[in-house]
Amino acid sequence: MSRLILIPTPIGNLEDITFRAVRVLSEVDLVLAEDTRNTLKLLSHFNISKPIWSYHQHNEHQTTAKIVEEISAGKTIALVSDAGTPGISDPGYLLLRACLDVGIEIETLPGPTALIPALVNSGLPCDRFVFEGFLPHKKGRQTRLNQLTAHRYTFVLYESPHRLLKTLAQLIELFGPEHPASVSRELSKIHEETVRGGLQEIVNYYQTNTLKGEFVIVCGAIQNAERI
Ligand code: SAM
Repeated sequence: MSRLILIPTPIGNLEDITFRAVRVLSEVDLVLAEDTRNTLKLLSHFNISKPIWSYHQHNEHQTTAKIVEEISAGKTIALVSDAGTPGISDPGYLLLRACLDVGIEIETLPGPTALIPALVNSGLPCDRFVFEGFLPHKKGRQTRLNQLTAHRYTFVLYESPHRLLKTLAQLIELFGPEHPASVSRELSKIHEETVRGGLQEIVNYYQTNTLKGEFVIVCGAIQNAERI
């Protein structure tokens, strides 16, 4: 039966793709990709040749209806993002909802995502956690920051290199300089590193070390501090 399949792709190391993801990618009729060039490279690496359509945050509203039509007409379509799991700080939700609304079957394969290795590797309690994704850049940022202090569990933030120090400074204002945290950079890549310690210690580290690549911030919750 035709359906939509969300397929996680590696966050850096190509060996992290699953056997199943490779097989399913080779079986679908069409692949929707955030960046068609990146996905073409990924598919070529695994000797897969498929039509690839562009599907990203700037065209998802215009193209969702057409994709739903294609699946309803009998196609099985895969959605991938540039890295990690579609729908996690990446397009996916809108299409998935539109498919569910007309009774199309959805499947999401288990696979790579940045938040889980960052969380587990942080050394902070990870039996329960909150995923915050990216904070808003401007409007609503302070409100979201203030809400972080209410968390009872470790929380995870995605951050870009040029906002990392600003966000850490804002976390210090809320939680204090010694509050336990961890920053993972370039997970699964050659320059992978995790810096653990107080928020200020992490800032000090990144003031003198390279600020390039992709980052995940993991921060302890105030209410959980006695466990750390
Ligand atoms: N869908 C992806 C997932 O499942 O993790 C997330 C996509 S989001 C647009 C990109 C953000 O994820 C980056 O800014 C960074 O915070 C995080 N990220 C992705 N790959 C990473 C990596 N290899 N190391 C550290 N963080 C990464």
